[in-house]
Amino acid sequence: ILLLITITRLISTVGKTSQWKAVLPAELAAVDEDVFNKLRGDVEALQGRASKDYGNIAREVPLAVFHPASAQDIARLIKASYKGAVPFKVAARGQGHSTRGQAMARGGVVVDMAGFRERGGGVGIRVGKMVDPSVGYFHYADVGGEQLWIDVLHATLEHGLAPLSWTDYLYLTVGGTLSNAGISGQTFRYGPQISTVREMDVITGKGEFVTCSSETNSELFHAVLGGLGQFGIITRARIALAPAPKRVKWVRLLYNDFSAFTKDQEQLISISGRKQNIALDYVEGSLLMHQGPINNWRSSFFPLADHGRIISLVTEHSVLYCLEVAKYYDGQSENNVDKELQVLLQGLNYIPGFYYEKDVSYVDFLNRVRSGELKLQSQGLWDVPHPWLNLFIPKSQIMDFDSGVFKNIILKRNITTGPVLVYPMNRNKWDNRMSASIPDEDIFYTVGFLHSSGFDNWKAYDAQNKEILQFCIDGGMKVKQYLPHYRTQEDWTKHFGPKWRTFAERKQQFDPRMILSPGQRIFNN
Ligand code: FAD
Repeated sequence: ILLLITITRLISTVGKTSQWKAVLPAELAAVDEDVFNKLRGDVEALQGRASKDYGNIAREVPLAVFHPASAQDIARLIKASYKGAVPFKVAARGQGHSTRGQAMARGGVVVDMAGFRERGGGVGIRVGKMVDPSVGYFHYADVGGEQLWIDVLHATLEHGLAPLSWTDYLYLTVGGTLSNAGISGQTFRYGPQISTVREMDVITGKGEFVTCSSETNSELFHAVLGGLGQFGIITRARIALAPAPKRVKWVRLLYNDFSAFTKDQEQLISISGRKQNIALDYVEGSLLMHQGPINNWRSSFFPLADHGRIISLVTEHSVLYCLEVAKYYDGQSENNVDKELQVLLQGLNYIPGFYYEKDVSYVDFLNRVRSGELKLQSQGLWDVPHPWLNLFIPKSQIMDFDSGVFKNIILKRNITTGPVLVYPMNRNKWDNRMSASIPDEDIFYTVGFLHSSGFDNWKAYDAQNKEILQFCIDGGMKVKQYLPHYRTQEDWTKHFGPKWRTFAERKQQFDPRMILSPGQRIFNN
């Protein structure tokens, strides 16, 4: 009720900062004049992007939106909360591409990191080189937490360099993906994005500005990576770079047998004992089902002339599995890369004749989702609800998952239209000291149900998600949610498993007043 009264008071002041100041909520009383002047509490700010996200399901109205001009501003805001009689919640909002309100702050302050980037207040993107006793030297990019990966790509390419590990979609902030893990088809080989970070500047929940790495302030460093925004706001991340390739051989293969599909995926990600340079650079996979179009927003690939025969195959089998791989090259040695690819793909058990290949630029490959996004945006279909479910599943249980979920729940409910991704990763590429929680097997799969729904039927997708989760619980499957969304602390405790104690202790250490990223609903359900 108090919150409602406060919001009503704020809304009634309609945007005039001076008036807004007159009804300053008690929680914000501790902020100084300069910080206060960067807060906005008008209707437009409160009801705008700060209270929404890509999921378009959750909606939480903050008390105010903060527009920092510098990292120091962010530190002062958090310090004011930390020192205040009544602390207020603070959530960094990157691109707001979460799907369940994770970047929102009900009754708190949302830090507008996108605006921070647009005003150029942070460290930007700077490429450098440093000595590392184990490898001689390495190139890195110092990148503001508010920066987009697409901009990191373009800036580093100017030096002939690029990060090694990506997400499928590049219009996400560095701080947002590092708070989760940042995964894609490169993860099996190069690790998630969090494993490519060498150093960070972080503003903790006490408003302290700390530089950390695996050697210095390592507890904070490991806490923040995969830490769901709970321990600090990342204002700079030092990302390792490597020489960038110019072109990519990109291949998709179709399967009707899940066992053959996963066996081949696992063979392709097995890089131990193999010379690194003849391994693939990217391995993913997805489902093709008769409800969905053959090409979707994640990328259009199959030639129009082949749509008919692919659709009849889908109709025959109900579900097909599409293995997707890529091999980078320098743009000149096309013959060599073709030979290497032939060796790598030799003996795979896809359906004969269903082999598709493209040769694209490195940028077009990494930015492959963008054209689909723009198309959906032009049709007004990008901003629909997205009741997504992303899971990590141990290899030993992926066959059960296929029969119980893909071949039963999904087919029975018959509503899945968005992409469904399925691909394996190697656990040894993840650093267990970091907060990200993954299954305890050498190989585990990520399965992503990337649903787009209508405004009136997202609950049907949610019901399907619940049925899938219940199936996993009933089958004793040790699955973890990726981009997790839980409602009770008991569920969070299970999610982190043996890491929960450390996670909770680190929260006490770095954000003892439980100020940061309340939208994750871990410590304040
Ligand atoms: P936000 O949604 O703004 O924030 C997410 C969380 O991080 C919040 O808790 C927020 O408070 C916190 N946070 C934000 N900035 C900072 C910061 N600087 N410091 C500390 N905490 C911060 N993920 C993958 O791993 N792989 C993919 O291939 C992939 N593809 C995607 C495609 C699409 C179309 C979408 C919508 C999402 C995809 N994601 C993917 C998920 C995405 O990585 C996460 O949702 C990520 O959090 C989005 O970044 P953001 O900048 O929008 O973060």
